[in-house]
Amino acid sequence: MKTLLPTSTAGSLPKPSWLAQPEQLWSPWKLEGEELINGKQDALNLSLHDQQQSGIDIVSDGEQTRQHFVTTFIEHLNGVDFQKRKTVTIRNRYEASVPTVIGPVSRPKSVFVEDAKFLRQQTDKPIKWALPGPMTMIDTLYDDHYQSREQLAWEFAKILNQEAKELEAAGVDIIQFDEPAFNVFFDDVNNWGIACLERAIEGLKCETAVHICYGYGIKANTDWKKTLGSEWRQYEEVFPKLQQSSIDIISLECHNSRVPVELLELVRGKKIMVGAIDVATNEIETPEEVANTLRSALKYVDADKLYPCTNCGMAPLSRDIASAKLKALSAGAEIIRKELTA
Ligand SMILES: [Zn+2]
Repeated sequence: MKTLLPTSTAGSLPKPSWLAQPEQLWSPWKLEGEELINGKQDALNLSLHDQQQSGIDIVSDGEQTRQHFVTTFIEHLNGVDFQKRKTVTIRNRYEASVPTVIGPVSRPKSVFVEDAKFLRQQTDKPIKWALPGPMTMIDTLYDDHYQSREQLAWEFAKILNQEAKELEAAGVDIIQFDEPAFNVFFDDVNNWGIACLERAIEGLKCETAVHICYGYGIKANTDWKKTLGSEWRQYEEVFPKLQQSSIDIISLECHNSRVPVELLELVRGKKIMVGAIDVATNEIETPEEVANTLRSALKYVDADKLYPCTNCGMAPLSRDIASAKLKALSAGAEIIRKELTA
């Protein structure tokens, strides 16, 4: 990446109201059939246009083509029954009715590759594509077949690797795995979670990223954050092993969070997507607030490895607010670029 401090988003962006009910997770589609296919592509173009107008350097589909960052991928796999549902506790935090693994999991055909090819045709900018991570996938299911979290995660890692290789061939520059579960199940992360992630990126030549956050700005997450005390040291549990891993980029929640910024020293050498936009508030950051977060991260991240980003996805926000936050991110990054090149 030649641009200094290239900006990007962690993942989802709001959908237009004609495609799905805004400001809501798992919002059902308002169109169907051919209209839905065309509608998703139109929404992708709108989202891309908005990112480019806001000065975002590494663009994405804004997850316009999926209902949810985990579920949509799983819907395309064999071995999971979406009719047979069980209530489980996701990330030790909130209960949800989830589908059941009833047999060996496999991917009959690619899930996002056509969407990625479409995005590639629309822009010359570097593109990032998000996939759910293996550990976060298993945490969103009831497993009635393998009855081993580790084994199921390993099977998903193999499937994700197939998808990732096709995304790379479609021209994706960075493939990101969303692993909010890495912030919860520390022993599993260290024992097999990072190994599964490395299996998912095996043989890839494009860049790879892992996104670890404190979740969308929904009530279950903001309530949970209130219980975490004055210092959030969760990252400390997994950083040493991540630093040793073959993953290129780590995407983190840094703005308005209680994560002690000095923890970034533990992953020195990795590229860091520094979350400098809070996705849990409608308040628009000022460029100076963004710059302050980036400046504090610069003590622990080399300038050529710092990628300004959002804390998490912005699907639950309104389009106007998300757009204003992206502009603030770009303006804040520009302040620091000027300081670094002065
Ligand atoms: Zn996130």
